[in-house]
Amino acid sequence: MGSASGSVTKQDTADILARYESDPFLLLPILQEFQDRFHFVPPQAKEAIARHLSLPLSHVEGVVGFYHFLSDEPRGEYEILLSDCIIDHFRGRESIRQRLCDQFSTRTESAQADARVSIRQTACTGLCDQGPAALVNGYAIAALDVQRVEQMVALIRCHIPVNQWPETLFQIESNIRLPGPLLYADLVPGKALERAFQETPEALLTRLERSGLRGRGGAGFPTGMKWRLCRETPGEHYLVCNADEGEPGTFKDRELLRHHAHAVLEGMTLGAWVTGAAEGYLYLRGEYRFLRPVLEQTLRERRKAGLLGEDIGGMKGFDFDITIRLGAGAYICGEESALLESLQGNRPRPRNRPPFPVTHGLRGQPTLVNNVETFAAVTFIALHGSEWLRNDGTETSPGSKLLSISGDCSRPGIYEFPFGTSIHEILDTCGAQSPMGVQVGGPSGNFITPREFTRRLAFDDLSTGGSFMIFNGERDLLEVIENFTRFFARESCGFCTPCRVGTSLQERLIKDLRQGKMRKEELPTLQQLGRIMATASHCGLGKTAANPVMTTLEKAPQYYQRAFVQTGSGTTAQPCPMENPE
Ligand code: SF4
Repeated sequence: MGSASGSVTKQDTADILARYESDPFLLLPILQEFQDRFHFVPPQAKEAIARHLSLPLSHVEGVVGFYHFLSDEPRGEYEILLSDCIIDHFRGRESIRQRLCDQFSTRTESAQADARVSIRQTACTGLCDQGPAALVNGYAIAALDVQRVEQMVALIRCHIPVNQWPETLFQIESNIRLPGPLLYADLVPGKALERAFQETPEALLTRLERSGLRGRGGAGFPTGMKWRLCRETPGEHYLVCNADEGEPGTFKDRELLRHHAHAVLEGMTLGAWVTGAAEGYLYLRGEYRFLRPVLEQTLRERRKAGLLGEDIGGMKGFDFDITIRLGAGAYICGEESALLESLQGNRPRPRNRPPFPVTHGLRGQPTLVNNVETFAAVTFIALHGSEWLRNDGTETSPGSKLLSISGDCSRPGIYEFPFGTSIHEILDTCGAQSPMGVQVGGPSGNFITPREFTRRLAFDDLSTGGSFMIFNGERDLLEVIENFTRFFARESCGFCTPCRVGTSLQERLIKDLRQGKMRKEELPTLQQLGRIMATASHCGLGKTAANPVMTTLEKAPQYYQRAFVQTGSGTTAQPCPMENPE
């Protein structure tokens, strides 16, 4: 959990680098080790890393500068990252921040004078069902209240290393409120492989296609088709599990990985068998590093049982293994091509598509990328047949979907609903209290008002990767929108102008609006900005970053009308500063 900070000697650097091969793919794990041990990546270390990996120094600096969890300036020996998710704000996050800052005489985003403590913020810790939450030296602490904060302050004042803090502080509730076929499903490790090995990879592919399984990340690409495309593309195949669920309000993978890791890893192994991949990666979001020990333990168990490694399950020549890679706080890595760049040790800039990763992925080779929930579902389809999925859901959206429900309801947590369930039913089940709206699919998703609560959870109606945030009538919708625009401005990777400049301008305009500094006549500027971002941005982040503003302007314009500063009539609209951005 990080040692005391101090000067970094040549020997320290040499000792760390000696444990890593000279492979640029290892850049991120190397940088993370320096960050963990010294609370920053010092200049001499960057030079040594660049030499060790035969990379330009500017490349190493660019990567350090990109990730929120890496720094080239010393951070505190105790680094506290508070969740900036709107749900945490509504659960009292601001008073927690204020108390911590008062206790350590510091401000957010700065280190204390003696460098002991730094207090910063991160977009979302994946604990919205039990916030307000924070990461301390990367480890999650949920349900922060006055008592827990005082406990943390006392431990820090006594110089107790985080790995010696009481375990109760790190207790994370599962909050599985409504299990369905996936969360109830039991797996004897290896059984799905054993069943699949009785037939051929082609038979498993057919079973997947018949099941109608669609990727659970939200876009819903048919899984069987993706697997077939990957299998039929010649080359050295790779496989990646995208466990970087970073959409604020999402936390379902946390519990799938905690309680169903065998199912996820077995699904990955089935993917390797079908596509011929020998190397697999599980890219775990940095906020979930507390899950890493249990996942590493599960990998060891599977290797020991012959379910990973050589001749898996007695199948001669089927060799495959999985490496866990930890993210470093960058939402864009949830985009699969950015994730692959991150794995390769590059700045995670989304690639031009096509070609798609399924044919040109890791190292330019065919790569199967699916998320945690999809791989887990594959395991049970392999075991029980395509009907296991088809028994639930609708014709075009078969099966069930895990939702991470947070906000104004009496039972926040993880729910598994069959596709086709109405929003009304979901709200009733979780005990929602007079909702004025629901944000489905995180900040980039859909804001729906009570008029739309008859809509259904389905790929062809309301699709979501899992985030489902409920807001009651007492919430200030513009506070929600400001939070979402801040999120996008912070997470834009900066590569293309419409998104880089657009997200910042949008954040500023909404801030002005909330502070009573925006005139009604400026509204077309905001709308024009949204249209430019949606059409001219390079990737999905920029294309959807104006969704929160555009959808609420359309569905709840009264919130905006009330906030405009009143001026005389006849003022003309300002031209949008984003016209012809490039
Ligand atoms: Fe980066 Fe945004 Fe452009 Fe995507 S749209 S490439 S996140 S700047």
